[in-house]
Amino acid sequence: MTMRVYNTLSREKEMFEPVVPGKVGMYLCGPTVYKPAHIGHAVGPIIFDSIKRYLVYKGYSVHWVVNVTDVEDKIIVEAEKRGVDVMELARDLERQYVDGLARLGVRSIDAMPRASEHIGGMIEHIQGLIERGYAYVVGGDVYFDVSKDKDYGKLSNRKQEEQLSGTRDGLVDKGKRNPGDFALWKAAKAEEPDAVKYESPWGKGRPGWHIECSVMAAKLLGVTFDIHGGGMDLIFPHHENEIAQSESLTDKPFSKFWLHHGLTRFNTKKISKSDADMARVMVDLQLNNLLAKHPAELLRFLILSSHYRAPIDFSPETLEAAGKGLGTFHRLFERLERVIGASPYKAEKRIEQVRDQANGPVAAAFLDEVLGDQVRFLEAMDDDFNTAAAIGVLFDMAGRVNRFIEQTRLETKRDEAAAVLASGGATTLIFLGRLLGLFEQAPETQSVGGDELTGELVKLLIDVRAMARKSKQFEIGDEVRKRLDGLGILLEDRADGTLWRRK
Ligand SMILES: [Zn+2]
Repeated sequence: MTMRVYNTLSREKEMFEPVVPGKVGMYLCGPTVYKPAHIGHAVGPIIFDSIKRYLVYKGYSVHWVVNVTDVEDKIIVEAEKRGVDVMELARDLERQYVDGLARLGVRSIDAMPRASEHIGGMIEHIQGLIERGYAYVVGGDVYFDVSKDKDYGKLSNRKQEEQLSGTRDGLVDKGKRNPGDFALWKAAKAEEPDAVKYESPWGKGRPGWHIECSVMAAKLLGVTFDIHGGGMDLIFPHHENEIAQSESLTDKPFSKFWLHHGLTRFNTKKISKSDADMARVMVDLQLNNLLAKHPAELLRFLILSSHYRAPIDFSPETLEAAGKGLGTFHRLFERLERVIGASPYKAEKRIEQVRDQANGPVAAAFLDEVLGDQVRFLEAMDDDFNTAAAIGVLFDMAGRVNRFIEQTRLETKRDEAAAVLASGGATTLIFLGRLLGLFEQAPETQSVGGDELTGELVKLLIDVRAMARKSKQFEIGDEVRKRLDGLGILLEDRADGTLWRRK
């Protein structure tokens, strides 16, 4: 099956063919580490982690780079405000960010280069642009001359004249030749910390943000690579400028495909718009605070439930809806564990292995349908990584396996072949879900708030309650249930034991 992806550069879906057959180089603009990350900063990594998982499944060898901007004006300002060392602040926030991503299942990033470690390459690149006449020095600053770059604006589809009329007051400041010219190098200011003052042919200073990405991407992925990603808000000026800097130096295409994801919209309608309230909401939306309250799988499920180019609505309501959706799968897997006696999370049999055991029209039809679902899932992903449609197929599969359990009355009667088939259906569902980073662990073993013990402790309390009830100490049993309920944990007694789930 061929894959088609929407390329911002051509504004259409194109056949996906990497520069070197079988190999994919992928670059995603990473965070500027000056404040704790919020959920919006995890959207790109979750989307591109799923894209990488899928490309690897398709047989590509993928090298994925996410940069860390640790040299930038905002970090200097924030460190000053907090009275801390600027590099210490950057490292600390980087660590928190990487931890948060790992918990969200984003573990496939191959390299996270830091801007501060590539300054030499940036200086060389800027020198090359000056030599070729694309950049000029004003005092200790160096600017890129957009009027020299004939196809400037091709990514964001803007014409140079439009940019001119769009600039504030139409003024050309600081000796710039054109209003659209942007800084490649910024002269250091006296009051700034020494840690961000780098020696250069133009005096002490630091690189502009755009040049950081151009240089690190080329260094780690080559002059021309395959996929460059980022949020839609980065198309202009950041990505437009990356293309200008890179292609003006090399005369070669920078990235073949440009993929841009939708932005996160926070529903803040219900709160007043005072600064204090908004600040509180932003703290709630911080990645570490969200991960302290919700399973990581839920956040990932919510983000992948939209197509990556669509905006993501993030609110208590959409979180609740995602929780209900995800619950459909968790309940099915629990149900299977009860009827089959083995966790589908651990099942390794593939649908092909159970084909021989299929007997009778119900089983044959079920198997056909599951194979059809698999094809539909892959078609959705081949069509511009449509995770929303792919998740829709997973819901169809969950419904199908549930119906099969009912048709074969598996919950009340033993039927080895049907049990293997139902389990095979669920295994296929889990296998496909894992291409999106879902269903990696049973929900009761997923930790919320970093507490790995939760699952084990709840099981222990369930055992204590069962012992109390057995010895007719019902008050103790009821107390355990009540206290767990207060913690948001519901117990459900069944003939074959007690289940628990979060409310
Ligand atoms: Zn970038």
